[in-house]
Amino acid sequence: MSHEMRFCPSCATPLQWRSQQEDSGMKARLRCPACDWTHWGNPTPVLAAVVENDAEQVLLARNALWQEGMFGLITGFMEAGESPEAGICREVLEETGLRVKALRILGSWEFLRMNQVLIAYHVRVEGEVRLSPELVEYQWKSAQEARCWPSGTGYALAHWIRSKGLEPQFGAFRPNQSPEPDPAKWPPQYWAEDGRFMLPPAV
Ligand SMILES: [Zn+2]
Repeated sequence: MSHEMRFCPSCATPLQWRSQQEDSGMKARLRCPACDWTHWGNPTPVLAAVVENDAEQVLLARNALWQEGMFGLITGFMEAGESPEAGICREVLEETGLRVKALRILGSWEFLRMNQVLIAYHVRVEGEVRLSPELVEYQWKSAQEARCWPSGTGYALAHWIRSKGLEPQFGAFRPNQSPEPDPAKWPPQYWAEDGRFMLPPAV
């Protein structure tokens, strides 16, 4: 369900679309006519993890809301008061029961439809998988077996596969979606595997 901002969160006056001079010129936004509060509508940061085990397999999980056969990365919202690194360690632990022992950044991508920005990490983990109720099943896939999809989390997975010296294979994540990757969103450089990992912060 998506919600629309209708009232000023500061003084409860109904918001209005108003144009005002900003650094980039005149800009229409929802603004409060009483106290001048502005609804900026900035994107929400979402964290994602390519979770790798000691057998060099990636964990792909199915959300309870997704149809059968649809698997993706571990994702979650960044919370107030935490760094993105601490946030992804928390999400991986909460959703899979696995402890992150090292991580590195893979990149960031936009998700315009949901007004989100994705920040993706590659994490190495230890422990046994215990799924949270929001996930219903999971699978471990090797870099050869894993199929990517043309959106932010899929491009993050493609980076990980390339770091194994393999060419990622793209398939459609959802029916009717083009399986063609967008090169502009998937810079095809190789990763130097060593030296990019760091110890995770405590969560
Ligand atoms: Zn107001």
